[in-house]
Amino acid sequence: MSITPLMPVYPRCDVRPVRGDHCHLISEDGRRFLDFAAGIAVNILGHSHPGLIGAIQGQAATLMHVSNLYGSPQGEQLAQRLVDLTFADTVFFTNSGAEAVECAIKTARAYHAQAGHDDKYELITFKNAFHGRTMATISASNQEKMHKGFLPLLPGFQYCEFDDLAAARALIGPHTAGFLVEPIQGEGGIRVASEEFMRGLRDLADEQDLMLVLDEVQTGVARTGTFYAHEQYGIDPDILATAKGLGGGFPLGACLATEKAARGMVFGTHGSTYGGNPLAMAAGNAVLDAVASEEFLAGVREKGERITTRLGQFIGNYPELFELVRGRGLMIGLKMKSEPRPFVTHLRDNHGLLLVSAGDNTVRIVPPLVIGDAEIDEFFDKLSAGAASYETSEAA
Ligand SMILES: *Cc1c(COP(=O)(O)O)cnc(C)c1O
Repeated sequence: MSITPLMPVYPRCDVRPVRGDHCHLISEDGRRFLDFAAGIAVNILGHSHPGLIGAIQGQAATLMHVSNLYGSPQGEQLAQRLVDLTFADTVFFTNSGAEAVECAIKTARAYHAQAGHDDKYELITFKNAFHGRTMATISASNQEKMHKGFLPLLPGFQYCEFDDLAAARALIGPHTAGFLVEPIQGEGGIRVASEEFMRGLRDLADEQDLMLVLDEVQTGVARTGTFYAHEQYGIDPDILATAKGLGGGFPLGACLATEKAARGMVFGTHGSTYGGNPLAMAAGNAVLDAVASEEFLAGVREKGERITTRLGQFIGNYPELFELVRGRGLMIGLKMKSEPRPFVTHLRDNHGLLLVSAGDNTVRIVPPLVIGDAEIDEFFDKLSAGAASYETSEAA
């Protein structure tokens, strides 16, 4: 037998983390890494946040799981907090981002079906989007590398150029249910949608009774310096998928919706065995305790601006390596002049700095939101040394 016990779907690198220490990871062989990848924008409180650890430990010892057959004081509390913090009136809890997007897709379709329009099932989605790896969420993306071997896709998605409002308007037809869009494409390369585009989608949805569905799985939960990124565009969605940061490392996602948008999501239409269990709710509540304050959000914006400004100066020293810096808050993209993976590998193996590559030749800088001056300085020390040695090795 040559297949590995872990299904070999990931090209895993040889760093094997066994322990976390605030914003650092320690590997099996004792190496220490500065973690500015944060489990792909998940570990927003770092790896040893006492509030999150204490909440999970306490809840694990009290009650972990009971199923959704019973009333949920823990779920009601977290749902109420999310409702109070956002545009939403109601929340469905999931265990992952893809499941949150699945629920969002079902909610959008059910909105129309409930009114007798079950021919309005199509979502307009955007090129190079990433919505997850389930059948519906790969069908929602035009990225062929995710489709190969898994055809046929689910019908009901139309792919449109990202940030092109006229193209989105032109795709609206008799079957359109709404739009599904990331305000900032994460896997696609930290591509920030323009204000005109996001506001234009909101207007089109209002004019034509369509659902504006935001995938804020990566941009959500304080990552961009507001609780959700759409706040910075001055618009509210009808439906929003959130996950990654929401559990701070515990698997937790949610689909948020207005009362109107959720009109089709009645008894028996949707469910999840684990979704919203007491352990996950404890994690979510602990994360909100830490991040849901104007002071914390202002800190994310301030650190984001500081890093972005310094990065802008830094790339001026390496015009042949880097093209530009973009993003919001602590969701920052460093676009390179060529494929970023070798540089990410070089930083990891030779300088102890963890970053993640993304589409459009972009390196993602998505640190824990709790970084301080020491981590920011260490990041720039490692990045500068890494760029200098990379340039030398490239020239060799
Ligand atoms: C990560 C991500 C997902 C999928 O989340 P999973 O937890 O991996 O299922 C969906 N949408 C966006 C924008 C993401 O970044």
